Amino acid sequence: MTNVFKLAAVVLAASTSLATLQPAQALEKSEQNQFAIAIHGGAGTITRANLNAEQEAAYKAKLTEALDAGHAILADGGSSMDAVIAAVQIMEASPLFNSGRGAVYTFDGEHELDASIMDGSNLEAGAVAGVKTIKSPIALARSVMENSVHVMLSGEGAEQFAQEQGLEQVDNDYFDTEHRYQQLEQARERLGIADKQAYLDLDDKFKYGTVGAVAVDKNGNLSAATSTGGMTAKRYGRIGDSPVIGAGTWADNESCAVSATGHGEYFIRFHVAADICSRVKYLDQSIEKAGDTVIHDVLLPAGGTGGVIIVDGAGNVHMPFNTEGMYRASRVGYGDTEVAIYKD
Ligand code: ASP
Repeated sequence: MTNVFKLAAVVLAASTSLATLQPAQALEKSEQNQFAIAIHGGAGTITRANLNAEQEAAYKAKLTEALDAGHAILADGGSSMDAVIAAVQIMEASPLFNSGRGAVYTFDGEHELDASIMDGSNLEAGAVAGVKTIKSPIALARSVMENSVHVMLSGEGAEQFAQEQGLEQVDNDYFDTEHRYQQLEQARERLGIADKQAYLDLDDKFKYGTVGAVAVDKNGNLSAATSTGGMTAKRYGRIGDSPVIGAGTWADNESCAVSATGHGEYFIRFHVAADICSRVKYLDQSIEKAGDTVIHDVLLPAGGTGGVIIVDGAGNVHMPFNTEGMYRASRVGYGDTEVAIYKD
C-alpha cells in the first residue's frame, strides 16, 4: 500500500469507529462536558438587618434543596431542561419566594403568575402570563413549548390549555400567605391610583422575589427558566419581564443561559437576558464582562434594579446584581455548593 492509501485507510477506520460509538462510549465522551447549575430566589433590599438568623437559615436550606435537585439530574446525565424545571418547582412550592405558593398579591388582592422557559439547543421557548390557578407555572410554560404551536399564552386561554394538558390547578387562595398580604396592605397605603412615581418609590421588598434557574448539562446543552408572582400591587393585567423571552429568560448553546430578577419594566426595555448573551455571542465577551456591563453600566444608570444568573457552555457561572442582595446558589460539576444572600 502506498502512503496515500495507508492514510486513507486510517482515516476511514477512524471515521467508522466514531460513527459506530456505542451508547456507553458516547456517554463517556459527552461526560467531558462540564455541567453546572445556578439558581436565584429574587433580588432586592436584602440585608443582614432585615433578615434574622432563622429566616436566613430557611432561605439557605430551600435554595440548597432546589440546587441539589437540579444538580442530581445533571450528575445523572439528565438534561439541563429537566434540571432547571426541578429546581424552579421546589422554589415554586415554597412560601418563601415570590413564585407559585408565595406569589405576591395584585392590587385587587389576587395572584397572577408569569413564567417562561428556553431550550438553548434549539431556541425553543414557552411562556405563560397572568395565570391564576396553575400550581406550577413553569410546568405550564414547558407544556406550551413542547405541546403547542405558540410561545406565549396568557390568562384564561392559558388556563384552558393547562386543563387540556392535565396540569394541576388550584384555587387562587392556594397562593395566599400572611406576609405577602401585609406587603400588599402597606403598598396600597402608599399608592394612589396608577401613580407612577409612588410605585417606583416603593421599597424593593414590595417588588421582588422571582425565582429562576440556568444550567448546562453533560451534553453541553443550556436551559433557562424563570417563574414569578410579579410585583406587589400590580394592576391592569400588568405583565413583567419574567415571561418575556429575551427580557427575563434566554438560552442559546452558542452563548449562554440567563434568568433575571428585578424591576421588570426595565428588564423588558433593555431586553436584559438576550442582551447579555448577544454580547457573549457577537462581541466574544466572557459572561462576567457581559453580565457586569448590562447590570451595572446599562441598567443601573437608567434606574433599573435587580440581577441575573448566567451559565455558559463551558460551565462558567456568574451572578451579578445591583441591589443589596440576591438569594442565589450555584454548583459547577462536583465542586462546592455556593449559597449566598448578601452582597459581601
Ligand atoms: N421581575 C419580576 C417582575 O417584574 C419581579 C421580580 O423579579 O421579583 O415581574
